[in-house]
Amino acid sequence: MAKGNSISIPKNGLSKEEIFAQITHFQEKDIDWKNGKFFGYVFYPGQEIYDIIQEAYKMYMSANGLNPAAFPGLRKMETDVVSIAANLFHGNEATTGVMTSGGTESIMMALLSAREYAKKIMKIEGVPEVILPESVHPAFNKACHFFGLKEVIIPVKDDFRADVQAIEKAITKNTVLLVGSAPQYPQGVIDPIEEIAALAKQKNLLCHVDACVGGFMLPFLEKSGVTLPIWDFRVDGVTSISADLHKYGYAAKGASLIMYKNSDIRKQQFYIKTDWMGGIYGSPSFAGTRPGGAIAAAWATLHAIGEEGYVNMVHETYQATQKLIQGIRAYPELQVFGEPNATLFSFGSNKLDIQTIGDELAELGWYINRQTEPPGLHCFVTHHHVDKVQVFLDDLAVAVKKAKSFSLENIKKDIQVGAVKQINKLLPKPLFEKLTKLAGQGGGGAESKRKAAMYGMMGELKGTGTLEEMVLKFVDELNSPEQNQK
Ligand SMILES: *Cc1c(COP(=O)(O)O)cnc(C)c1O
Repeated sequence: MAKGNSISIPKNGLSKEEIFAQITHFQEKDIDWKNGKFFGYVFYPGQEIYDIIQEAYKMYMSANGLNPAAFPGLRKMETDVVSIAANLFHGNEATTGVMTSGGTESIMMALLSAREYAKKIMKIEGVPEVILPESVHPAFNKACHFFGLKEVIIPVKDDFRADVQAIEKAITKNTVLLVGSAPQYPQGVIDPIEEIAALAKQKNLLCHVDACVGGFMLPFLEKSGVTLPIWDFRVDGVTSISADLHKYGYAAKGASLIMYKNSDIRKQQFYIKTDWMGGIYGSPSFAGTRPGGAIAAAWATLHAIGEEGYVNMVHETYQATQKLIQGIRAYPELQVFGEPNATLFSFGSNKLDIQTIGDELAELGWYINRQTEPPGLHCFVTHHHVDKVQVFLDDLAVAVKKAKSFSLENIKKDIQVGAVKQINKLLPKPLFEKLTKLAGQGGGGAESKRKAAMYGMMGELKGTGTLEEMVLKFVDELNSPEQNQK
C-alpha cells in the first residue's frame, strides 16, 4: 500500500523564495485557525502578543536547555517561569518544577516520579498502581503503558466528576498515586480535588492534579471573580501539578510545566549517568536536547500578557462560553454535559444525530472535535472566539435544522453501519482498508458526511476488539508520506 519515500533531499538547496512558496502551498491545506472557526489545537492571543512570542522564540531557537551552565540566560527564564507558576498555584518556598515539551511529557514525569517513589520511598514490592478516573487524558494511560505501571480505571459519576468513594475502594497495598483533573478535558468539569487529596494524605499516597488545561486559566478566572473549587497547592495533600503553557498560557508550542510540592519528589524524575564514555550526563526530564525557543517564548508570553491581561482575556472568554452554553441549552434537543466549571465544555443530543450536526458545522467551516463516549462535540473556547459567539450560534441553528430534516441521510448511515457490522464479521481485513481510506479523506467540508458514517461505525464496532486495530491503522496511515501528499 505505502508507496512512500518518494521524496528525496534536493541535490542543491532551494532559494528562500522557493522554500516559502512551497511551505505557503502546504499551509493552504491546514486549518485556517486565524479565522476563529475552530476549537482546540491553537491558542491565539492576538497579533501584537503573537509577534513578541515569535521574536523571543527566534532568539533562542538554537539554544539547548540540556546544559543550563552553557545557557544561564535560558536557565534564568525557566526558573522564572517555574516561580511564576509556583506563585500562581499557591505553592511555598519548597515548591519546584521543570519545564517540559507539553502536557503529555509533564504527566509522564509525574508518573515516572510516582514509580520511583513507590520503589525507593514507599518500598512497594509489587507493580505500583495508579488510580485514574476514566475522564483523565490518555497521556496517563500512555505513561502507565510506557513505565509498566498498573492503571486502575474508575468510572466517573453522573456529573462526570471523579467518584471519590470508588477511588477509595480501589486503593490496595500497591497503590502509589491518586489523580484528579482541573478541569478534565471531555466535559470541562473540575474533579473533587480536595476530597481526592485528603484521601491521598490519609493513606500516605501521592496526589497529582492534571491542570494541563486549567493551570494558566483557573487562577485568572478566580481572580476575575468566578467562584471555583480549589485544586492547587492550597489543597493539603496535592503533591504534583501538570500545567500547559501552550494552552491557556497562550505560549508557543512545546511548553508545559510539571510542578512538585518539594524537590524530594521532583528528583525522582531526573536521570543521571556518571560513567558514560561521553562524559557525565544528567537530564531533568524525558527529552535530551531541550529546545530553548519554547522556554524563551513562554517567558515572553507571561511577561507580555501579565496578570491583568490574563484576567481580562479569561473574563471575556468565560462570558463567551456562558453565552455559547445558554445558546445551546435553548434547544430542547441539545444537552450540554454536566456543569462545566470554566471555558471548555461538550454537548450532545438525545434526539438528533450529533455527528450530523458536527458535519453540518464542518460544512459551514467549523472545525470541531468529536467525542464518542457519550457522543458529543467539544468546544475548547479561547479568547480568539470571543467575537465568534453569534456566528457559531447562527451556524448551529442551520446545523440543527438540517439535522432534523436529514432523516434520509440517517437511514442511509444506519444501513451503512448495519452493513459494516455484518461484513466485519466475515471480512475484517479488506474492510479496514476501506474504512481507513474513508476516514483519511474526512477533513470536513464535502467529505464530512463520510466522517459521520465513520464515527457511527466506530461506535458500533466498539467492544468487538477491532476498533483498536482500525484506529491503529488509521494513525499509521496518517503518519505515512502518501497521506501527506494528497
Ligand atoms: C491537552 C491535555 C493534556 C496533554 O497535553 P499535550 O500538550 O497535548 O501533551 C493533558 N491533560 C489535559 C486535561 C489536556 O487537555
